[in-house]
Amino acid sequence: MNTSNRKHIALISVHGDPAIEIGKEEAGGQNVYVRQVGEALALLGWQVDMFTRKANAEQAAIVQHSSNCRTIRLVAGPEEFVPRDNIFPYAAEFVQQILKFQKDNGIKYALVHTNYWISAWVGMQLKKIQGSKQVHTYHSLGYVKYKSVPTVPLIAKKRLDVEKAVLETAESIVATSPQEKVHMRQLVSKQGNIDIIPCGTDIHRFGSVTRAQARQELDIDPESLVILYVGRFDPRKGIETLVRAVGQSQLRGKKDIKLIIGGGSRPGQSDGMERDRIESIVAELGMTDITVFPGRLGDETLHNYYAAADVCVVPSHYEPFGLVAIEAMASATPVIASDVGGLQFTVVPEETGLLAPAKDDAAFSQAIDRILSLSPEEREKMGVAARRRVEKLFSWEGVAVQLGDLYTDLMQPKKQLATVKQKEAVSA
Ligand code: UDP
Repeated sequence: MNTSNRKHIALISVHGDPAIEIGKEEAGGQNVYVRQVGEALALLGWQVDMFTRKANAEQAAIVQHSSNCRTIRLVAGPEEFVPRDNIFPYAAEFVQQILKFQKDNGIKYALVHTNYWISAWVGMQLKKIQGSKQVHTYHSLGYVKYKSVPTVPLIAKKRLDVEKAVLETAESIVATSPQEKVHMRQLVSKQGNIDIIPCGTDIHRFGSVTRAQARQELDIDPESLVILYVGRFDPRKGIETLVRAVGQSQLRGKKDIKLIIGGGSRPGQSDGMERDRIESIVAELGMTDITVFPGRLGDETLHNYYAAADVCVVPSHYEPFGLVAIEAMASATPVIASDVGGLQFTVVPEETGLLAPAKDDAAFSQAIDRILSLSPEEREKMGVAARRRVEKLFSWEGVAVQLGDLYTDLMQPKKQLATVKQKEAVSA
């Protein structure tokens, strides 16, 4: 397709840079989502610009991912890492920088897809200033999150206000699971349009190697029983629950169990602190000899870890979607996950894995023992069912087709009218 015929859209992710390494502090699912959606949309014929905040003076201002997909880093606030709770004061500058970029490049985005509440606010300003249509994905809901944290940050009120306003004014909110939609309706607002389009995963990369090949590659004994965690070191990810669950396992000492806790950390930063805490629990429970911390798992090796594992555990306190679960499932590995949020949608208990109450060490321990006590054939059957579920529902290609259809629909003038009428009907 000729570039000039392509429809130009902007994906906005102020704090989650789609072009940086995943697995480090504050870089996780949102970064992966924006990058993968952007690249898949470009393959479908869209011209995709992904905007993020420049968080380091050495970073390139523009990263070209493919001929029709690029990350654009805008200077808004200091060119250094700023935790997401402190970024909002720079959002207005971010809006100005997008407007300047548009002017300098002769572009006007008719539709912006925003990610997380800070970007939601940016999108709402673009709607006010130039009538851009807005699609929004929350990634995390303040209304849910603040229930589970001991101290609520100062920015909380602003966040909750923006989350409500965007639900009521955006052309479409993308809920990534039916559970997330229910939360939005129960906790945020009864008004506004919600479409359910799940997150996706790379079904070509995950599932590309057999268990035997992966173990050979990683030098893991073919007979070991491997339990895997992948994700950020954040107390809300529930790694402590997993460690304590393995500590209580009836199989400990009887079988050759190996616990792999994968994820990046930067010494001295908060994910480093959580890693230190987890390491001390591992030591306290006498599990140092069975536990490994391979650090950040990059693109070249992550698929091997998923394939090598007998079970992948996602013990999060809350998860609006949870990419790790579908990555493991795509790799034909059963998943044990907390019975919360999007994990209730991705994992089908008894078929593709098991669910256990969040923070419940004993329940996780029993679930782990159950999966590890299955015969290799029974475990494989679960893994095959998991892979099938991902192929059917969660490929990035499928997700991008659904998003592209939504954008096309919203960009048609007819739909605009229908949406307004629908909104009026809902609010009446
Ligand atoms: N990830 C990775 N390497 C790591 C740790 C995590 O590539 O060492 C990726 C992981 O594969 C997944 C994302 O980071 O794609 C985490 O997304 P998820 O939705 O599970 O959690 P979030 O970080 O958004 O809370």
